[in-house]
Amino acid sequence: MWLIVPVILVALAIFVFKYVFSSPGPNPFETDTRGPLKKMVHDMKEKNKVLKQGFVASKVPDNLDAIIIGSGIGGLGLGVLLAKVGKKVLVLEQHDRAGGCCHTFTEKGFEFDVGIHYIGELMDHTPSRCMLDQMTNGQLQWEPLENPFDQVVLGPPENQRRYPIYSGKTRFLEELKKCFPGEEKAIDEYLKLAKKAGDGIWLLALLKLLPSPVAKFLVYTGLAKRLSFFFKMAPRSLTEVVNELTENKDLRAVFTYIFGTYGNIPKDASFSMHSLLVTHFLNGAWYPKGGASEIAYHMIPIIEKAGGAVLVRAPVNRILFNGSQEAIGVSVMKGQEEVHIHAPMVISNAGIFNTYQKLLPKELQALPAIQKQLSMMKHGEGGLSVFVGLNGTKEELGLKADNYWIFAENNFDELMVNYMNGDREESAKKVPLVFVASASAKDPTWEERSPGKSTLTVVTFAKYAWFEEWKDDKVKNRGPEYKELKQAFIDSILKMTMEVFPKITRDKIEYIDAGTPISNNHYLGAMKGEIYGADHGIDRFCPELYATVRPQTPLKNLYLTGQDMFLCGFTGAIAGALTCGSVILNRNLHLDTIVLAKKTKRMNDKLKGDYELLAEVGVGCYGKVYKAKEVGDRQRLLAVKKFSIRGEDSESGVPASMIREVALLRKMEDLNHPNVVKLLDASAVPVGTSLDLTLVLEYIDQDLLTYLSKVPATGLSRERVKDLMRQLLQGLDFLHTNLVLHRDLKPENILVSNHGEVKIADFGLARMHTFNMALTPGVVTLWYRAPEVLLNSAYMSSVDMWSAGCIFAELFLLKPLFQGYTEVQQLQKIFEVIGLPSEKDWPKDTPVPYSPSWGPKGSSTKLLPNLGPDENDLLSQCLAFRPSGRISAIKALSHPFFARHPKSSVE
Ligand SMILES: Cc1cc2nc3c(=O)[nH]c(=O)nc-3n(C[C@H](O)[C@H](O)[C@H](O)COP(=O)(O)OP(=O)(O)OC[C@H]3O[C@@H](n4cnc5c(N)ncnc54)[C@H](O)[C@@H]3O)c2cc1C
Repeated sequence: MWLIVPVILVALAIFVFKYVFSSPGPNPFETDTRGPLKKMVHDMKEKNKVLKQGFVASKVPDNLDAIIIGSGIGGLGLGVLLAKVGKKVLVLEQHDRAGGCCHTFTEKGFEFDVGIHYIGELMDHTPSRCMLDQMTNGQLQWEPLENPFDQVVLGPPENQRRYPIYSGKTRFLEELKKCFPGEEKAIDEYLKLAKKAGDGIWLLALLKLLPSPVAKFLVYTGLAKRLSFFFKMAPRSLTEVVNELTENKDLRAVFTYIFGTYGNIPKDASFSMHSLLVTHFLNGAWYPKGGASEIAYHMIPIIEKAGGAVLVRAPVNRILFNGSQEAIGVSVMKGQEEVHIHAPMVISNAGIFNTYQKLLPKELQALPAIQKQLSMMKHGEGGLSVFVGLNGTKEELGLKADNYWIFAENNFDELMVNYMNGDREESAKKVPLVFVASASAKDPTWEERSPGKSTLTVVTFAKYAWFEEWKDDKVKNRGPEYKELKQAFIDSILKMTMEVFPKITRDKIEYIDAGTPISNNHYLGAMKGEIYGADHGIDRFCPELYATVRPQTPLKNLYLTGQDMFLCGFTGAIAGALTCGSVILNRNLHLDTIVLAKKTKRMNDKLKGDYELLAEVGVGCYGKVYKAKEVGDRQRLLAVKKFSIRGEDSESGVPASMIREVALLRKMEDLNHPNVVKLLDASAVPVGTSLDLTLVLEYIDQDLLTYLSKVPATGLSRERVKDLMRQLLQGLDFLHTNLVLHRDLKPENILVSNHGEVKIADFGLARMHTFNMALTPGVVTLWYRAPEVLLNSAYMSSVDMWSAGCIFAELFLLKPLFQGYTEVQQLQKIFEVIGLPSEKDWPKDTPVPYSPSWGPKGSSTKLLPNLGPDENDLLSQCLAFRPSGRISAIKALSHPFFARHPKSSVE
């Protein structure tokens, strides 16, 4: 008997391990989809074309794979994950714009955020950051807040104490210790406990992902609590834990101040939930550059690219089921009409209460499994936000990229209980807590978008019941009593704010209004005006709840995503999307984000050790080119090229041809010639069926195309042409001697340094693709292509000599010699100059038949009338039709052109 327990435990451990690490489904993070940064769009009318696409039945795509109800980050995030593996998804939003809590609105020219003020864990290469970069194709940028990122203000103006909260583990501790001398032990212990509890969050995800019987086994045997300090600490209240640490009331308050980010006062808050927030901001806080609307703006196109759509003014009034209790679609209210849309899968981001209590038919609502889940959750607290539009810049108004948590005193439990349980008119006059944030001060694009203006958003808690009587009135027209109550809140909130920000005076206010819990109901679909969805008090963190409320609901084909599925906050809601996506796609996406982060970090560390990236200088179809500087004594300038190359065959991984190309690039590292760009490092990391390639090269700031564009109309001197051409041929001879064919020689791939040195670039990559470092138009030109390549015949190193001949002519003409736009036209242009070859010279292996109609007969040794005999002779030898008759680089270098220099008629 005593053997059975360890055997079961080992079997369970093996099962869990296998389950977690086996990921048979498609991976949305398989390829790095970050593209070059596009110019930011500030024009709200333009952005609204993406964010405000109104619902009409004709815009619903056919053959949907899934319908998502709600366009919060939990809905859009999941939509992107599914779209990235090719699924066609329809996201339906009840409000008139997409984004949920991430939406923004504009009043009197002031743009306000609703539910995004700061987000943690977005340092480079964290799983969160890498995931968001992929989910926005690298377009969403994050701006760090100041350090200190939060300021805690306690007490009335006559006895106000301010405590700055710094990020960085060491700084956080050091600065707190400066404020509270003698409390060092308590401060160290607090962070130690918070980190230990916060680190246990992995089990939360696991309980939702493991097969239900396994998750329940972990819960009911008590293993979940034993395995994770998070669940061990979860039943302990925040007040209880901090009271054990210190007697200092201000320090207790500073330990607990951030409860406002999840909405439970310290005596009701779980220490574990609190610890997640403390660790979330331990490495800093970030704000989306360009405002919160950027989030949805960059996600929607990814959903659309896969054939899906994000439609607003689309309130779902019920979920449709077949006779077997399987979700088969949704019904959307269009005016008084119901529009039915069908899909094999319905996912709700509308919150657990909306989904189960409003969108299910009564008989399914009554199912015991549904009732059980509902009985485990309760509504969270309501929120009230005051939006202030100000005249003045951030400097004039004393605003910074940080947040203020202002409390009437340090006894938070007492203050909040009195306030929330008090008479509403009295409570309105004595708001005990406000959170103050200025989006305009955080966003570096603000000054450009709204010069001379600023915004403030001030948030506090408020009971839904205080406002419920007006819930059915028309929005913005709820009558004088509602207005009066709102005004009372605005006045007391404003007073508290102005006491801390003396430069903000009433005369600076151009716009002010408040959103109450019933506004949250209207605009965010929050059933009871909740600020963070379902309640996050101690009961939420019993392991049984996590093993019971899971993405897969008791009803087939119906899933839940977003904050109620995991935790509140931007990161919590997106974790809900990852959890739901993991279930739908049958792979552990949490793990995938960790792998993605490790991979990106590995690549960057490799580079960072030796180089510092300075600026992006070019883009190509497969990646980016950066200007970089060598770290250390030499400080050489470098070009760093990053590519992600997709495999041809998803079954067989990275194709052998690519491996050969990379091997060639590695060989090039050992080759050293003054006329070939030095490849300093080439690294290739296979990622699934793709290859992430990084090349580090010496940096040369212009290519031959740019160089020629600056030459005066009188042209280049003969000596200069000779010098350029000699260097080019020397480089080519070196490549050919080392059995390297360039195959894509053209002015864009030949670099000319400021000292006139010529360097051949982009060798070895030609077969994979072309990649122009200079910002030339993205056409792959035919103009330098040898006839045997155009005729699809066998070729050798002489193809490079043909291109060299074309470039030689261009050095005189300052324009390309043969400018065809199709392969046929290109051949015709060539034959117009060199004459049509005889039929016996026509390649035998070409699929293109010989025809006298291709061009005029005969070969010419005087190809360009304005060139002298030496130039024309060298040119005609480079442009010989038969590859075997074409001059080699080494022979060309001994051509009389380089020895003699009669005057050219072009000069
Ligand atoms: C005032 C405030 C400040 C906040 N500040 C921060 C912060 O600084 N940092 C942070 O990380 N988090 C913050 N949060 C929390 C964070 O914004 C949310 O936890 C998170 O964005 C929730 O995302 P979600 O996708 O789960 O839900 P939501 O964003 O609420 O999305 C749900 C969507 O479903 C729609 N919907 C509901 N019912 C229907 C229906 N029947 N048909 C169609 N659509 C429907 C809603 O309209 C809504 O758009 C804040 C929240 C608020 C309210």
